[in-house]
Amino acid sequence: MAAQSLGYRVCVLDPGHDSPAGAVADRQIRADYVDPAALAELASLCKAVTTEFENVPAASLERLARDCAVSPSAEAAAVAQDRRREKRFAQDCGLSVAPYQVITEAADLARVDGSLLPGVLKSARLGYDGKGQVRVDQVGAVQPAWDSLGQAPCVLEKWCAIEREVSVVVCRGRDGRSVTFPVAENEHRGGILATTIVPARIDGALAQRVRAAATTIAERLDYVGVVCVEFFVLPGGQLLVNEMAPRPHNSGHYTIDACVTSQFDQQARILAELPLGDTRQLAPAVMLNLLGDLWFDQGRLRPPRFDAVAAIDGACLHLYGKGEARPGRKMGHVTVLGTSLPDALARAGQVSAALGLEPSR
Ligand code: ADP
Ligand code: MG
Repeated sequence: MAAQSLGYRVCVLDPGHDSPAGAVADRQIRADYVDPAALAELASLCKAVTTEFENVPAASLERLARDCAVSPSAEAAAVAQDRRREKRFAQDCGLSVAPYQVITEAADLARVDGSLLPGVLKSARLGYDGKGQVRVDQVGAVQPAWDSLGQAPCVLEKWCAIEREVSVVVCRGRDGRSVTFPVAENEHRGGILATTIVPARIDGALAQRVRAAATTIAERLDYVGVVCVEFFVLPGGQLLVNEMAPRPHNSGHYTIDACVTSQFDQQARILAELPLGDTRQLAPAVMLNLLGDLWFDQGRLRPPRFDAVAAIDGACLHLYGKGEARPGRKMGHVTVLGTSLPDALARAGQVSAALGLEPSR
């Protein structure tokens, strides 16, 4: 939609029959992300290609890059798609990550470092929204956890006493110029993003460190496009890189309503080799995610009270048009704008009450 409002026509490659992007695109190629004929067709139709979903195989991006500009690059996607490479990369950039150990084979289980427990075992690849993760509290629990993840390559990460989670979206053009959006403060529930508050309630010096760390990652990856870096802030202000997403990110959705340029506009501008847009935030914002759970009342399917949300000043409703509501599935979000952050939080409280959402902290 951002590219279309800049005057471009858009083609979507998506295997789905009720693909939200396919529904608004000028054209959809309905095929798997690795289908050679579909990739050839997409490459022949498009000047530039990007992904909205981080598990598009790096090899498909490589194929497309033979014929058109592709962001993220296959190399950047490959780093972000594997937690082992991602963590090593952050460390190579001089940044800290949560203490961790790689588990790739049964012998690694005998070498589990007890200081990482209680911890969380995460599959190295294909995890999102807390999927592919199992909490482990003691050494004996690592084996069953690894079994439950199909004995796939994993990282065992120490469970950190997080004071706050923050993220920042970096936009970097082909010319190496980059800009960042304001730092966002995130609250996750059950491993899924629930609320984003912007600006994050951290001091200016820490916000500057967050922006600088994310920019370093984008530069060292020679990244072209939009990338989001998630961080843990520990008591005392120590910053750990959690992970990066090589695409517009849920914690950047507030930019649609709250900033001069949205993260999606930036992606379209970068693909089109236009100058980067103004990342200024025009109003304090609170973003509330709408998960499929909201569509169920004691197991019975019924739509949430969106009429009540529509009556609240400052509330901007976004529904993605996904065909079927399922628990844990991201169906949409509400961005609530205020005249001040306390005002935005108060209005977000009204939205939460209207929808039956748990209020944010
Ligand atoms: P995903 O790819 O599913 O987003 P993350 O690694 O970002 O996976 O984990 C999701 C959320 O789970 C994090 O945002 C955080 O709230 C929590 N979490 C993950 N790892 C840790 C950890 N080591 N310590 C504390 N909380 C964690
Ligand atoms: Mg995450």
